[in-house]
Amino acid sequence: MNGIEGFRNMEAANHFYKVLCGHGQQLARQGRVVHFMEVCGSHTMAIARFGIRDFLPINMDLVSGPGCPVCVTDPGIIDAAIQLAHQGKIIATFGDMMRVPGSRSTLDKTRAEGGRIEICYSPRHVLELARDNRKTEVVFLAIGFETTVAPIMAMLDGVIGEAIGNLSLLTAFKRVPPALSALLGDPEIRIDGFLCPAHVSAIIGADAYRPYAETHGVACVVAGFEPLDILYGLDGLARQLVANNPHVDNQYNRVVKPEGNRQAQRVIARFLEPVDASWRGLGVIPASGLVLRQEFTRYDACHRFGFVVEPGRVNPHCLCGDVLKGKIDPSECPLFGTGCHPDHPLGPCMVSSEGSCAAEFKYASGVSS
Ligand code: SF4
Repeated sequence: MNGIEGFRNMEAANHFYKVLCGHGQQLARQGRVVHFMEVCGSHTMAIARFGIRDFLPINMDLVSGPGCPVCVTDPGIIDAAIQLAHQGKIIATFGDMMRVPGSRSTLDKTRAEGGRIEICYSPRHVLELARDNRKTEVVFLAIGFETTVAPIMAMLDGVIGEAIGNLSLLTAFKRVPPALSALLGDPEIRIDGFLCPAHVSAIIGADAYRPYAETHGVACVVAGFEPLDILYGLDGLARQLVANNPHVDNQYNRVVKPEGNRQAQRVIARFLEPVDASWRGLGVIPASGLVLRQEFTRYDACHRFGFVVEPGRVNPHCLCGDVLKGKIDPSECPLFGTGCHPDHPLGPCMVSSEGSCAAEFKYASGVSS
């Protein structure tokens, strides 16, 4: 069920809509046009699915940011996985990566050519794959934000505990807060409020966003995924701006604590350390990646097989970089829906189930899930 009929509680939806419009009018009387960004792929999908942009007052702009880990990953990591598959390793991956273009091919095509690429649905599944194939090297294409990193590190703990010797990680882990800092440091991007990611916040905690409010004067709301959560979250951003009181408002406190999940943070810190990392569209951001610490490099595929991941070639016609920075709407890409389509995607934003281009294509074109 899409659009307004997707709101289960119409009375509440109408209430929040009226309140949001009221705050929009107050901002208009202050002569303000405000720019909000959601930084979570699940929010992006829900916003598109329920047509939430259609609810916004004319002086409120809502763009998608770099909230999809698949979309921000450099194609060089796909190239490396394909190379390892050609060497006879089993590549374990989450399904979203299968059709993401590398420089010359995809994991999907590599499997069709005989490479052993296994889609896994959880880190536990990866562990089982390694247990069941002890005589073959299994390389897990480990991509994700803090939410995904924590369970993968818990899996690595299991690998060490069971002395499983044939599993290594090809990592492209990313940390969300440095990316937000990079966005705020870009003079071409205007952001007055972040709709902060929900899952990531459960790990890092709502307090992680305080510098953006306190130093940059940006309103921050941590919101859940239900359409009412999102409407309420956007109204929370508007309220902060009307009152000229930017702060962190944790509206998802049924899941997110101010300090986050300490146990998950400990497991991440035990195995990984921050490193500068390259983001599609955003370039290299200091301390925005995570790599295995020196004492765990035997589980690092690059270290184990003696190679480095080289930067990949991005299709020059794909504007994913601008989409991920919120500089353009997906439909502003000249290839949207024509040269680039879910059946023949040119960029990761059209492939990923959390990609902005995929979301806009799926819901703006009326194709229901
Ligand atoms: S529509 Fe396709 S080509 Fe254009 S930005 Fe999105 S993924 Fe890239």
